[in-house]
Amino acid sequence: MGMDDLQDLYQDIILSHNKRPRNEGDLPGHTHEAEGYNPLCGDRIRVFLRIEEGVVAAVSFHGEGCAISRASASMMTERLKGCREGEIGKRVAEVVEMLAGPVEPKLDLESAGDLAALAGVRKFPARIKCATLAWHAADEALEKGGVSPGS
Ligand code: ZN
Repeated sequence: MGMDDLQDLYQDIILSHNKRPRNEGDLPGHTHEAEGYNPLCGDRIRVFLRIEEGVVAAVSFHGEGCAISRASASMMTERLKGCREGEIGKRVAEVVEMLAGPVEPKLDLESAGDLAALAGVRKFPARIKCATLAWHAADEALEKGGVSPGS
């Protein structure tokens, strides 16, 4: 597969997440939430987590934003669902590092899944904040601490 084909494939993955985001909407009974805002682009993404017995039972997001911010939020929900509360920070850090760290990661679709497509955003520094927005919001939701379910 040539680089151009690969680029197209990555773009397709991002556009498909934007068009049909996974886990978009409110999350009844959520225990954590936070909003991320990216003034550079105008993206505003609200993230909800429902943590039950130390495990992320459900994740959702909603908001307005560009294709990259929404696709990234969609991937974030898939990546964090089912993980232990203590692993969230690590998973977020991995993706932020992948997008904004000093070393370009070597990822392939097989091992990293759709997240590999997101790594392509590295080439567009102005868009990196779009791609990290939902991840930082998930982190912030945890830092803020839990709210009573249903409130
Ligand atoms: Zn954006």
